[in-house]
Amino acid sequence: MNKEQNKETNKRFETRAIRTQTARSQHREHSTPIFATSSFVYEDVEQMQAYFGGELKGNIYSRFSNPSVKEFEDKIASLENCERAMATASGMAAVFASFLAFLKAGDHLIASRAVFGSTFQVIAQTLPKYGIEYTFVDPLQPETWEAAIRPNTKMLYLETPSNPGLAVVDLEWAGAFCKAHQLLFNVDNCFATPYLQNPADFGADIVSHSATKFIDGQGRVLGGVVAGKHDIVEQVFLFIRRTGGSLSPFNAWVLSKSLETLAVRMDRHCSNALALAESLDGHSKILRINYPFLPSHPQHEIAKRQMRQGGGVITFELEGGVQAGVQFLDRLKMISLTANLGDSRSIASHPASTTHLRVPQEERLLIGITEGLIRISCGLEHIDDIREDILNALDF
Ligand SMILES: *Cc1c(COP(=O)(O)O)cnc(C)c1O
Repeated sequence: MNKEQNKETNKRFETRAIRTQTARSQHREHSTPIFATSSFVYEDVEQMQAYFGGELKGNIYSRFSNPSVKEFEDKIASLENCERAMATASGMAAVFASFLAFLKAGDHLIASRAVFGSTFQVIAQTLPKYGIEYTFVDPLQPETWEAAIRPNTKMLYLETPSNPGLAVVDLEWAGAFCKAHQLLFNVDNCFATPYLQNPADFGADIVSHSATKFIDGQGRVLGGVVAGKHDIVEQVFLFIRRTGGSLSPFNAWVLSKSLETLAVRMDRHCSNALALAESLDGHSKILRINYPFLPSHPQHEIAKRQMRQGGGVITFELEGGVQAGVQFLDRLKMISLTANLGDSRSIASHPASTTHLRVPQEERLLIGITEGLIRISCGLEHIDDIREDILNALDF
């Protein structure tokens, strides 16, 4: 750790997101450059042997570590109140590593049913190929989780708020459950970002992110990260360095720069989302509106306890099912139809006719994807323009 970092560890969130910085080079650059290098060079054989033998700590090869990547990791570790972090090539690389670094053939995983689509596929399709068993549970009925425990259960995995249903799971309850049953507690914190919620404060052992979303915040790069205690992240590090899902220095540089503005961006994402949710509440075409910081959200009290604000995503249920969803999307003029979220540009999606089209209806309903469900990722445009576009599109 260099002098600059030492100086900043006791500072506040916004300051740590900016001032956690890789040591400057002999050029005295103010802002950290991109260390676009695949490997690091040695003065002589003796020095090379010392690095490879571990007597000297430092960069060897960028699949293992790189100064641009380390700056991003150090920031995330600090912002998530964790000891260490390991960056990955995408959010799915982080989620996959968070399973495979800890689970082996014969182990059993309990997972919330309300998780990101690809995560659902990894648990249900990929893990069984490696002999890892799973049980999906209802995240909103934690009293049913105990019945899912087997002698070989090793981990509980969940997402809160969930994508796309915005289910809010009680982190304090889940943390106590994992402690009582000696399970690794693994949380995907993508929707909240470290600015709104820190799962480690509730006992999470493993905190993962798709940095592609709000952390980048401008729809430019893919990335992911896993944070936790030193020994936990060491396992993820070994898994990633062997299997190759490392983050590129360029993407790490973009993401580290992005973290410098995370707090101001999230404040605006959240205030736009709350204002939009409030103004759509009671609209004649909308059956119900879903936002963790609206008092009508079923887990509003839990959300208030564990989140600092409600996040940048709202969902609502249109009257008229699939057809109304398609009509609504077609009538939007400004808001983008795209697969991403957490962008400066507002984004709309209708899971039943797009991302979850091939998931059978009964399964969609189990994870809260009703026929007329619309998900809006509120961007940073002026709230009046976002609202106008949506109200106009609802007028069919
Ligand atoms: C997008 C997303 C992921 C996967 O991230 P990628 O960067 O697309 O691989 C994982 N979890 C959640 C909640 C997501 O929204």
